[in-house]
Amino acid sequence: MFRAKHSSMQSQAALIASSLSSLSELRPDEVRQIMELLNEPGLSRVIVTDEAACIAYDSADPDGSEGRYALFPEIAMALGGKQVFHAQLVEEAVAARVCLPVRNRASIVGAVYLYEYDAVQAALIRSLQRNLQRISLVVSLAAILLSVLLAFLMSRRIRSILGGIRGIGAGRYDSRVPVHGGDELSQIAGEINVLADRLQQTEAIRQRFVSDASHELKTPLAAITLLSDSIVQNDGMDGETVREFVYDIGREAERLTRVTQKLLELTRIGSRTRERRETVDLRRVAEEAMKMLSALAVERDVRLESNLDGGCLIYANADDIHQVIFNLVENAIKYNHSGGWVRVLLFATEGQAQLLVDDTGEGVPPEKLPHIFDRFYRVDESRTGEQSGSGLGLSIVRDTVEKHGGSVTAVPRETGGMRFRVSLPLQQSEEAAT
Ligand code: ADP
Repeated sequence: MFRAKHSSMQSQAALIASSLSSLSELRPDEVRQIMELLNEPGLSRVIVTDEAACIAYDSADPDGSEGRYALFPEIAMALGGKQVFHAQLVEEAVAARVCLPVRNRASIVGAVYLYEYDAVQAALIRSLQRNLQRISLVVSLAAILLSVLLAFLMSRRIRSILGGIRGIGAGRYDSRVPVHGGDELSQIAGEINVLADRLQQTEAIRQRFVSDASHELKTPLAAITLLSDSIVQNDGMDGETVREFVYDIGREAERLTRVTQKLLELTRIGSRTRERRETVDLRRVAEEAMKMLSALAVERDVRLESNLDGGCLIYANADDIHQVIFNLVENAIKYNHSGGWVRVLLFATEGQAQLLVDDTGEGVPPEKLPHIFDRFYRVDESRTGEQSGSGLGLSIVRDTVEKHGGSVTAVPRETGGMRFRVSLPLQQSEEAAT
């Protein structure tokens, strides 16, 4: 707006200046004649001065001001050769000034000063300003409302996520955080739900484990209580029967010891995050385990055979691997027939060490085979005494092997008995170097 005013006043001033440029000296009478001819309309005031800033013409006082000096800074600047434009909003009007030098040939002979006091334009600007103020007020209010609404919605979602987290934290593992949309909050809610799923699974496994374990411990304890009560309450019991009962109590106590040892072993596997691993020669560990079991094999009249390749090196915890082989060979002897055999084979193929434990025992019925690695699972529940195991040996085998990046399978042999196969990754050369 000011720019339009500038250009119109500038061209008016330029017209006056060029009309006066024919005069070598700006004398009042000559200037007035030219100004009357020009008759510039719409301007509030026009002043023409000579080169000494002495007024030659003043539209505000055409007859009386000649000879006075116009000591405006704009005129001083114009006489110095500059073109001046200055506009400002004063109260109810736009006050604009333009001042140009008047040149005759190359020399400055005076200055033209135009002043305009425009109330209409000022009113326009003021109303524009008011409108802008109103618009910015409405926009700010809308922005504030929108942010309050967004903050409210956001805090409601955060509160519902917090509620879900608190529920899970309080042990309600089935509570879930609501997930809406795909923004970051929803992603957080999704991740919390995944964690809750895991917690729920872990909790279910833990509860089953605790109830299975207490059941396993309860049975021998109940037998011990029953046997000892019978001895205490039966005064006339003969020495032979008492000895028999005490022997049974001892056997049940042994069973308790076995179960608790295996339970400890299982929790040890589950809780250890970083155990010591080293290069383990599977042949050496297998030989050791078989040596420890040779007495049991003799006792059960089971022949122990082996064909163990050297060079089956794995990166593992030696005690864990010993436990795996020991459990498998012990089972193969325990669940065998008198006069049968157990054969342990070891070889390397396709980056894996393969350990096979074959036996000539009773085998496992096909419908029970999928469960034998479950905790506390025993094929023949009715077995008691020395024959009764804890049902934990194969769980320990599976957990340990999987922890070492391997796998274990059980298949019936065609000619009777079982084959357990353990595959473990052979040691990489870079592991050997560490
Ligand atoms: P347990 O302490 O009872 O031996 P395991 O977890 O080692 O527990 O074995 C689970 C069950 O799998 C055993 O009760 C047994 O019935 C069966 N089993 C394991 N190994 C053999 C095998 N070599 N031959 C036949 N049955 C086996």
